[in-house]
Order: sequence, then C-alpha cells, then structure tokens
Amino acid sequence: MTDETLTDVTVIGGGPVGMFTAFYSAMRNLSVQLVDSLPELGGQVAALYPEKPIHDIAGFVSGTGAELIANLKRQIDSFGDKIGVHTNEEVTGLERLDDGTFILRTAAREIHTRSVIVAIGSGAFSPRPLAIDYDREQLDGRKVFYFVKRLADFKGKTVAVAGGGDAAIDWALELEQIADKVVLIHRRDNFRALESSVTRLKESTVAILTPYKFTTVAGTPDGLHIELAKIKSDEVLDLDVDALLVNYGFTSDNHVLRDWGLPVKRGDLQVNEYLETDVPGIYGVGDAVNYPGKVKLISAGFGEVPRAVNHLAEQLYPDRKQPLHS
Ligand SMILES: Cc1cc2nc3c(=O)[nH]c(=O)nc-3n(C[C@H](O)[C@H](O)[C@H](O)COP(=O)(O)OP(=O)(O)OC[C@H]3O[C@@H](n4cnc5c(N)ncnc54)[C@H](O)[C@@H]3O)c2cc1C
Repeated sequence: MTDETLTDVTVIGGGPVGMFTAFYSAMRNLSVQLVDSLPELGGQVAALYPEKPIHDIAGFVSGTGAELIANLKRQIDSFGDKIGVHTNEEVTGLERLDDGTFILRTAAREIHTRSVIVAIGSGAFSPRPLAIDYDREQLDGRKVFYFVKRLADFKGKTVAVAGGGDAAIDWALELEQIADKVVLIHRRDNFRALESSVTRLKESTVAILTPYKFTTVAGTPDGLHIELAKIKSDEVLDLDVDALLVNYGFTSDNHVLRDWGLPVKRGDLQVNEYLETDVPGIYGVGDAVNYPGKVKLISAGFGEVPRAVNHLAEQLYPDRKQPLHS
C-alpha cells in the first residue's frame, strides 16, 4: 500500500519521546505520521515497567509508567486523525529521494515524507540476564522475572531483587509495600541510583545484602533456592524466596541506523544542537541519540522535541513564525 500524501514529518518509534514528538509536531500544524513496531505505543515504559512509579518528570507526581503513557496518548488523541498512528509496523527501509524527501517502508505501507524524526530508543531491547547458568526455560517468567507486568503478582510473597541501579531500588521500594519481605542483592556496596532513592531504601524495611554475587538459582516445589557468595570472602549465604526480580539493565540493537546510512557512534545516532543528523531532514530525539551532555532520561528527551520540531518546521516553512508557547 502506498501513502499518496506527502507527510511533513514521520516519527519512527512510539516510545514516550516519539509520542510527544508526534503531538508537538501537530501543535505546529505539521502533518505527522507515527510508526512503532510494537503493538502498543509507549516504548520501554509500556513494555518494561508500566507499574513502576516515575519520580523525575517535572509536574508528573506519584504516577506510574502506564499513567504517563496514557497521558501522552490523550495528547495524541486530542488531534484526532490529524496524527496517523501505525502500530505493529517496523520501519525496515529508509530511502532518500533526489528531491530531498524520503520513503519509509514497513511491511504494510510506504510513507512519503518531507522529514524524519528517529525516536527508536535503543532499538530492539532485551534484558541482561543473571551471569550464572540456571534453568531459564523452567524458571523465567514463573519464578525469575526480568519485567514486572503486574505488581499484584508479588503480593504477600518473599521477593529477592537483584541489581544496584535506579530500577532495582525503585522496584524494591515498590514491592516493599505489597510483598511480605523484600531482599535487595547487589555485588557492590555502593548503589548507582538517585541519592534520594538510596536514602529511602536505607530507611525502608528492605533487607540489603551487599556485596554478594549469585552462585546458584534453583527451583524448589515452593519457590526458589538462591546461594550467594560474598565478594572477596569465603562467606556463603542461602536464601529461600518465592520470586527473584533481576534488574541488570538491558542490551540493545540499533544496527538498523547504520543500514540506513545514518551517522552512528557506539550505537547512538549522532546529532547537532538542533537534533539533526548530517543527512538534512533526518533528526533524532530521545534514547536513540547522543551528543555532548546527553542524558538518557524521559524528561531530557521531552526537552529535545521542541528544539528538533521547531528547527524542522523552520526548514519546511521558512515563512512561519517560531512559537513562543502554547
Ligand atoms: C527499567 C527501566 C526503568 C526506567 N525508569 C526511568 C525513570 O524512572 N525515569 C526516566 O526518565 N527514565 C527511565 N528509564 C529510561 C526511559 O525509559 C527511557 O529514557 C525512555 O523510554 C526513552 O524513550 P524513547 O521514546 O526515546 O525510546 P523508547 O522508550 O525506547 O521507545 C522506542 C520505541 O521505538 C520503537 N522502535 C524501535 N525500532 C523501530 C523501528 N525500526 N520501527 C518502528 N519502531 C521502532 C520501539 O518499539 C519502541 O516502542 C527507565 C528505563 C528502564 C529500562
């Protein structure tokens, strides 16, 4: 199917930053298409941590990932069909035509567009697993978890949380409120997380086990048996828990950007101060990009959107005035 209309801007990736990009582009009266490979919009937030609270977005208080995505969806919906949303469609091809416009290809359609904003985050992502052999086929998704889809599944249980970053601490604190007992296991004494979260953790009832590494994770009829070894020590610790939640971060694959001939360094799209790549008309925002001072957080990605879209609007419609505010 060929899209006959020449679109002003097509956003590849419907994570939080791509969603806001589509909305803001519509605010600037640009025609916009938003394409995401997953069945639902929301990117990492919807797929990986819908029930995790998010504390570090201005004006968004005590909300979960799912609530943030629902709010972004409401903003998009407020423009009705002025924003074309295409989910379950991976963009596999990006071609620049001689007139400077682009053709984007998915399995279902071709989109002819005057500009492209790449918001594909880290591309296809997968969680970094526990660094020991265990029966992944039997235990993953049953007793060992890499995502929390429903916090209520852990109600009244004894839960071990592995990891020392923000996600591990946020989950430990969240689980503390509904689980019977929470144990946080980290291989270092220091946590790499927001200082305020570490303070809350230390004031909580979460049992902190550091510096320990996992040596055994095995299923039992009632749950999981875990053996830990203290780092630089002979001390060994046995734990019996109902579930283990692993938060060791994620690996990702952005190779598609190279296939499209875009400037990539260490997996990140390289952009200038207007979030534009060295291909005129192709921009990048959110976790997909890097530049000096880049911070890979939602609020930082949101801040990039007006810079990219207003610059792009100026290139497409030089006579239009720049906005002051909505
Ligand atoms: C466990 C965890 C907890 C986090 N907690 C916080 C937090 O509390 N606060 C915070 O600010 N940040 C947090 N982050 C980071 C935050 O999620 C990211 O910064 C944010 O999701 C980046 O948004 P994005 O829209 O740039 O990319 P993403 O959310 O990664 O979305 C990218 C989208 O692009 C789509 N896509 C990829 N390739 C294609 C393609 N070829 N065609 C079409 N679609 C494609 C993907 O399907 C995906 O939906 C956390 C991350 C994790 C993993």
